[in-house]
Amino acid sequence: MNSTFDEVFDFVVVGSGGGSMCAGLIMRQAGKSVLILEKTPLIGGTTARSGGVMWIPNNRFMKRDGVEDSLEQATTYLNNVVGDHNDTPGTSRDRRHTYLTAGPEMVEFLVQQGIKLTRVDYWPDYYDELPGGSEYGRTVVAELFNVNELGEWKQKLRPNFISLMSTLDEMLKLRFVKQSWEAKRIAVRFALRTVFAKLTGKHYVTAGAALQGRMFQAALKSNVEFRTESPVSALIVEDDAVKGVITVKDGHPYRIGARLGVLVNAGGFAQNQAMRDKYQPGTSAKWTNTIEGDTGEMIQEMMRHGAAIAQMEEMVGNQMSIAPGTENDAVKQVVQGVTAAPHAILVDQTGQRYMNEAGSYMVYCQGMLERNRTVPAIPSWAIFDSQFIRKYMLAGTMPGAKKPDRWFQEGFLKKAETLEALAGMVNIAPATLYATVERFNGFVAAGLDADFHRGERAYDRWLGDPFHQPSASLGDITEAPFYAMPVVPGDVGTYGGVVTDSHARVLRENGSIIPGLYATGVSTASVMGRAYPGAGASVGPSFVWGYVAGKHALTTA
Ligand SMILES: Cc1cc2nc3c(=O)[nH]c(=O)nc-3n(C[C@H](O)[C@H](O)[C@H](O)COP(=O)(O)OP(=O)(O)OC[C@H]3O[C@@H](n4cnc5c(N)ncnc54)[C@H](O)[C@@H]3O)c2cc1C
Repeated sequence: MNSTFDEVFDFVVVGSGGGSMCAGLIMRQAGKSVLILEKTPLIGGTTARSGGVMWIPNNRFMKRDGVEDSLEQATTYLNNVVGDHNDTPGTSRDRRHTYLTAGPEMVEFLVQQGIKLTRVDYWPDYYDELPGGSEYGRTVVAELFNVNELGEWKQKLRPNFISLMSTLDEMLKLRFVKQSWEAKRIAVRFALRTVFAKLTGKHYVTAGAALQGRMFQAALKSNVEFRTESPVSALIVEDDAVKGVITVKDGHPYRIGARLGVLVNAGGFAQNQAMRDKYQPGTSAKWTNTIEGDTGEMIQEMMRHGAAIAQMEEMVGNQMSIAPGTENDAVKQVVQGVTAAPHAILVDQTGQRYMNEAGSYMVYCQGMLERNRTVPAIPSWAIFDSQFIRKYMLAGTMPGAKKPDRWFQEGFLKKAETLEALAGMVNIAPATLYATVERFNGFVAAGLDADFHRGERAYDRWLGDPFHQPSASLGDITEAPFYAMPVVPGDVGTYGGVVTDSHARVLRENGSIIPGLYATGVSTASVMGRAYPGAGASVGPSFVWGYVAGKHALTTA
């Protein structure tokens, strides 16, 4: 190398997201030195805050539990969901094939490294009706993690959005604690665990924090080096190849060389309103649940060195209702199941339904943004009745519980004795809202949503209420008082970025590689294109391409 460096490692990772530590472990297994530079004071990225679900078809836990899958089945499914389009270079057939073959291999590798993983019992693919779709789902998650095992590093792990010592699987089932004996047993187990943990000095973290906590622990054990509050401001490029990065140390620029390459795992640009305005007009950094570090500068830095970008207009939408007083919360209230439950629908500002309310969160928000191009639909209105209020959670409040006065006083939750009066409160023509609800109630009576086919997929029913008869998804809106609540197209991250090949190498517009530069996670154009095939389609790819990048970089040694 010609450059002078303050320090040199074999492999340098920018950002401590999903794939970072996976790549680090691969490198350490081969005896290479690894440095992970994290801009914020905390390790783990949005991945640690997340559900920590990875969508990994044909994984060992499916085999363990007798859930059918194969490479062929997964390929058929992914090809059907994603399709072949000229404008989604992140998702070539070649890259999909690598994803589907490297995914289960990566899971094996992590298990060998002592990372305790498992699967969620039942979480249907988001298009389970398509050929190759899996009703039981292809998720991989971490087991609960006692964060005290991290010792002095414990404070460095980014917390999860769930503070309870409960697995995601348990949380999903606890929704039905009133109706289900299994859920009641889970509630008891959860209570006992909490008491036992207190007595024995354990502190279990869940979901993404369990995943990243376990990764962090394994990475520390294998001597991956971590530096927090170490933003990377630039790549060091010589002879058109990436040789290192510039970060800061003691307030001064600090140059770090990378013999085998640099992996960018620095998240997307959900917190950068200027980038959103450019690539995703109409979306807002106020409606994202990503961490504060998700500001996109590494995507811009890679572009500065000629990286091609794609799919920048895509985000992983997550429908939200932001109650008064929660506008500045780091994690906003997601209302994923609300309009997918019986006794509820979503309408635009003219009072019309316009989608299957039980589609995946990505499709749901794509639907809102699309609708808003022709009819005002941001916010849209969730419309529901008293049966809904009695039976289901609403924006973080329990079924049947009194809703905060402030919600009504500040016009967040509207309530009226008739649909016509409710329509007046949200500026919808009363006759239109009445007709929409009447039509929907007709579908409920017939057991068939002739407009949008809600309730026909396993996923729709899973998102609804499996204890509601005869349909888990469709229930009439007939019992006064009636309610309306605004819903906006929030997100859990952007989904476009630099274009990478099947070895996770960053590509230029002309298809040539930028030597020494790898990227993974939502810094890249997703291998899933413009679709979200199932739970874990962000964290899964981040891990898999981190793994692939690490393995490839070793071949250049
Ligand atoms: C509440 C919630 C639940 C979710 N649940 C799931 C789920 O279960 N499954 C799923 O697939 N997706 C889920 N998502 C989405 C998913 O979490 C993210 O898309 C994914 O974690 C992004 O991972 P990543 O590895 O690309 O980046 P991240 O995990 O965000 O990591 C990027 C890191 O890079 C750092 N960084 C940025 N710039 C720099 C720089 N210049 N220098 C140094 N460091 C930098 C950031 O601070 C950050 O720590 C969820 C999101 C949220 C908010």
